[in-house]
Amino acid sequence: MESQGRRVDIESDFGACSLHHKRIRRNWLKGILYAMGARRPCPICGGFALPIKASWMHSYLRCWRCNLIYVAELPSQNNLHAAYQQVYQDSYQARHKEHWESWMEHKQRTLDALGIPSYQEQLGEPRRALDLGCGEGRLLHVLAQRGWHAEGLEINAKLAHEAQGLGYTVHLGPFEQASFSEQFALITMNHLIEHLRSPLEGLEKVRTWLVPQGRLVLETPILPDYTNTDHLYCFSAAAIDRALRKCGFVPLMWFQYIDAHYQHHNLACCAKRTA
Ligand SMILES: [Zn+2]
Repeated sequence: MESQGRRVDIESDFGACSLHHKRIRRNWLKGILYAMGARRPCPICGGFALPIKASWMHSYLRCWRCNLIYVAELPSQNNLHAAYQQVYQDSYQARHKEHWESWMEHKQRTLDALGIPSYQEQLGEPRRALDLGCGEGRLLHVLAQRGWHAEGLEINAKLAHEAQGLGYTVHLGPFEQASFSEQFALITMNHLIEHLRSPLEGLEKVRTWLVPQGRLVLETPILPDYTNTDHLYCFSAAAIDRALRKCGFVPLMWFQYIDAHYQHHNLACCAKRTA
């Protein structure tokens, strides 16, 4: 990926390092200009935002009202989609394969804590679930173990084929272009919303894929990781709450936790689609 290649240069080459600092200074300036001109007010609540950080890749703003942290300038959709063909297949997820079992146990506990078992009991068959950004199918496996007929959506071809190899139906392609002929009773969205260029449009889409009263289980980091250039947003609980309500959801349960393996401070939430 282009951005990873640049990072390696920065570590190994003094000339590239000064270029790196120039980029950070430029991004600070961009952030201030964006804030002064309010060219990109908070996309969740419309609040005014101030620059808080500039990295070599992005300048970041923080909304004074809902505490959403977001990049001042969105990368193009094409650049983002191209990046996901490489980043997540070899480096990010494969490195953590040894933690899969504990990861899946944690997801079991998350579904329990968010009240999914009691919701599941109210449903007839088939109980259709969709995991957005399903990767190599770990969460599909957890859902299938619990009696869900689980399907996935994955942008990365290699990961999608891995999940398909486990016997799951996985739709290959970007979230923004996805459509489904039937609705789902449960949708899981694990560390995806912070990657979307428009989280509100994303949630509105998810709403149409859910049956009325259907459940959305959403997880996202709540502390910013400025080294992760694919994270376009870092939500606060207030920002997620506002985004969900704006898009036709009622948040039902929340909790926060620290993921020991990925070192993420996360928010996990279950929301209900309004009728
Ligand atoms: Zn805001």
